[in-house]
This record gives sequence, C-alpha cells and structure tokens, in this order.
Amino acid sequence: MIKTNANFSKLTPSYLFSEVARKIAAFSHDHKDVDVIRMSIGDVTRPICRAAVDALHRAADEQADAAAFHGYGPEQGYAFLRDKIAAADYEGLGITPDEIFISDGAKSDIGNIGDILSADSVVAVTDPVYPVYVDTNIMAGRRIIYLPCTEENGFLPELPAERPDIIYLCYPNNPTGTTMSRSVLQRWVDYALESRALILFDSAYEVFITEADVPHSIYEIDGAKRCAIEFRSFSKTAGFTGMRCGYTVVPRELKADDGTPLRDLWLRRQTTKFNGASYPVQRAAEAIYSPEGNRQVREAIDYYLGNAAIMLDGLRAAGLECYGGVNAPYVWVKAPANMTSWQMFDLLLERCGIASTPGIGFGQCGEGYIRLTAFNTRENTIAAIRRIATNLKP
Ligand code: PLP
Repeated sequence: MIKTNANFSKLTPSYLFSEVARKIAAFSHDHKDVDVIRMSIGDVTRPICRAAVDALHRAADEQADAAAFHGYGPEQGYAFLRDKIAAADYEGLGITPDEIFISDGAKSDIGNIGDILSADSVVAVTDPVYPVYVDTNIMAGRRIIYLPCTEENGFLPELPAERPDIIYLCYPNNPTGTTMSRSVLQRWVDYALESRALILFDSAYEVFITEADVPHSIYEIDGAKRCAIEFRSFSKTAGFTGMRCGYTVVPRELKADDGTPLRDLWLRRQTTKFNGASYPVQRAAEAIYSPEGNRQVREAIDYYLGNAAIMLDGLRAAGLECYGGVNAPYVWVKAPANMTSWQMFDLLLERCGIASTPGIGFGQCGEGYIRLTAFNTRENTIAAIRRIATNLKP
C-alpha cells in the first residue's frame, strides 16, 4: 500500500503566484502596447560579480585536471569558505568555523532544520510571513501560532501569549522590509531563554542593512548563542539565486533541554542527508570575501537600495503610505481607501502597467497591502514611479 504524508492535505493551496501570472498575462493580451513593469519579482536581476565568475571559471578548470579535481567535499562545507564567513560575517562575535554549515541555500536549511526538532513542537511565526516557515512545519505536522505584524505595532510582533517551542524571526523582513532594533531583538532573546524556546533567525537580507541600530546577526545580542540558529544566504547578497549557496550557524552553546548540542544533531543530519554544496559554487562564494569581490557585491546592493530609495520617494509623493525599503529590497505599500490587496494589485496593473505582489499572499495581516521589490533595473524603477505619479494622483 502506498501511503502519503497526510499533513500535505492540510497545506493551503497557493494560488498567489499563478493568479498574479494569470492577471498579468490577461492584461498584456488586452494591452499589447503596455510593457508591464514587474515589481513583483523576488529574484535578483544583476549578474553575479566578476570576482565570483572568475573563481567559478578557475574551479571549473580544476575539475578538468586530475591533479586538482575535487570529488565529494565535506558535508559541512569547505573550510576555505567557513573560515572566511567566521572571520568576516561574524567578526568579534565568537562564531567558529565548526559552527557554520554551508548549504545549497537558506530555503533548504529552513525546511530541513525541522528534522532535528520534535514533531510536537509548537511554532510561532509572524503574520505576514515568508510562507516556507509555515508550509514546512505543516508538512511535519506541527501546530502554528501567528503573531500579527501591523501598522499599529510597527510590524514588530508582540511576545506570544501562548508559549511556543520554536519562533521564526526574519529581519530585515520579507515581505514588509521592516527591521528589529537591537533592544527589541534582545527582548526576544531574553524571552526565548526564559521560556526555553528556540529562535530560528533568518537574516537572508542582512546585506541590505544601512542603519546603525539594526543588528546584522542575532549573535550580536547577549545570550543568543544559547537560544538561536541563524540562516544566511548568498542569494540576495551576491546574486546567487541561480548558483545556490547559503549557510546556517548552530552555536555549540545551543543545547536541548536534555543537554544535547543542536550543532551535533545538525551535523549528523547533514552528513546523513546532504553531500555538500558544489565545489565551484563554494569557490565563487569565497571570492565574495576578497577585497574586489566585496566591492563588486556592494555595488550591486547599493544599486538595489538606490532603486528602493527612488520607490519610497515616488510612492510617498503619490500619497501612498510605505514601509521598509531602507534596510531591505522590499517596500510594503498600504492600499489607499481601504482597498484590499487584490484591488490595489488590479489598480496598479490596470492604471500603471505595474505588477505587484498582493500582501494577502503572505498572511491575513498582509491584507490591504502590496509588496514591491527593488530588484529591477534603474530604468524600469524610474519608469514605474513616473507611471504612478501620472496615473495615481492622490
Ligand atoms: N529567507 C527569506 C526570507 C527569503 O525571502 C528567501 C528567498 O526569497 C530565502 C530565505 C531563501 O533563500 P535561498 O535562495 O538561499 O534559498
């Protein structure tokens, strides 16, 4: 008998992206003269930097040479990359290379981490939320508590009324683009330590932080090494969405109630189910830590942040209320006049030829908002803002 995981039937079908695509296709069919500007894209548009491409070429040549060839690598990732991450991304924070695990991206790690956690754990997520946190836990049969993030609370969740075992925090946030200050994050770390909860901290957008009071890593916060796992990604940092590389930090100090170090369980999980990210990709990731790689990556990030600044100015000038966009590539726009997310989506598409992502797709509290991304060309960003200024007058 073939039996499936019954939890899959509890997943909410996701029509969001197919419905967005269907509406864009229908609009384009009826308005052949309008070039739709896609501000819904969650993917980067700039190519990976020269330093990373050169490293990729060198690694490819090594693979063609019997003396330099690399077969299976360490499941945890090559030391050459973990050493650079520990020294550069965790400078002064006391994270050691053996606490860093390289992977094929943050999404897999965020989903896979559940393997080492009890199936009866209660999980807290923000609403709106990056849907991967929700769906991976529903697949595993875990119960979910939603923590509303609204205009009233500045898109920062209140501490949960019911104690969760696992808490997902993503800052800078997708989709709202908002951030958590050091003092607020300290409150969450203190809460997790007191209530013996585990924080899963997603800092996929860390590189976009521009303000001094926004922590780049949860390990900047006192006590975090005893209650938090951190996920990072090269996807948005270095345009690696198609290359696939990220990493997870599990500090040695982080222990389960029975004293088991979570790091050892994660190592066991990875060595059993994962054979490491590819050698050329890890070499390319390493190149980002060279002075020229660092500079080139910064250029791309500043380009996107420049787009975000143009978007914020233009949207506010058009009378729209906006959040995010300063430490993140996302701008969270409130639909005017109590419109729903989908009504705002339709308005932007039909009046301005702009595609957005309806906030309701990220949770109930996303209703009444849309998400716009800065991952566009400068020309398209400027053109989109011009269209809004002309066609969406307050
Ligand atoms: N975490 C967040 C909040 C994201 O928005 C994304 C990608 O969009 C990821 C993780 C996944 O990153 P990766 O490409 O490394 O799997």
